Amino acid sequence: MASTGAGEGNKTAAGSSLHSKTLLKSQSLYQYILESTVFPREPDCLRELRVATATHPMAGMAASPDEVQLLGLLIEMLGAKNAVEVGVFTGYSLLATALALPDDGKEVNKGWFDFAFVDADKVNFLNYHERLLQLVRVGGLIAYDNTLWSGSVVASPDEPLAAATREFNVAIAADPRVHVCQIAIADGLTLCRRVA
Ligand code: CA
Repeated sequence: MASTGAGEGNKTAAGSSLHSKTLLKSQSLYQYILESTVFPREPDCLRELRVATATHPMAGMAASPDEVQLLGLLIEMLGAKNAVEVGVFTGYSLLATALALPDDGKEVNKGWFDFAFVDADKVNFLNYHERLLQLVRVGGLIAYDNTLWSGSVVASPDEPLAAATREFNVAIAADPRVHVCQIAIADGLTLCRRVA
């Protein structure tokens, strides 16, 4: 019975509410990605938290499952032991981060980090960037969420948060301290590897 209930919750959470988290235009293609690759490999505790988060009035703020899967893979590849997350909603991506860390890794609030995920107030992204360049080691990874801001960076570039996001994207692209990549997953994910 328990697994049936989880399956139904899964289906509900996998519907239009999750599609709203991605810039991918095709809902059926996004559904396919989730069902073929993401959900079959999703740990039980992560699925339960995702389903619980889906009923939250501000569920749109939670990271998307495919994005969380990507971050988990990157954390594994990085061999990360210490991670920091700036902007925790229900802790969905935080839990995914914790799951991807080896047993001797732990979440701490200060120190020397291998990985950081930033999903906080967009107007302060550049401030977080400066701070995180102190906290994340050379070779470590900083991931910034919502860096395409629902496409508003081109659709309505003068909207305040779109303008702040554009300013951030310009600054990051020009920052010699990081290697960067803008990924069109979820609402836009910018990866920065610290190189100096
Ligand atoms: Ca976000």
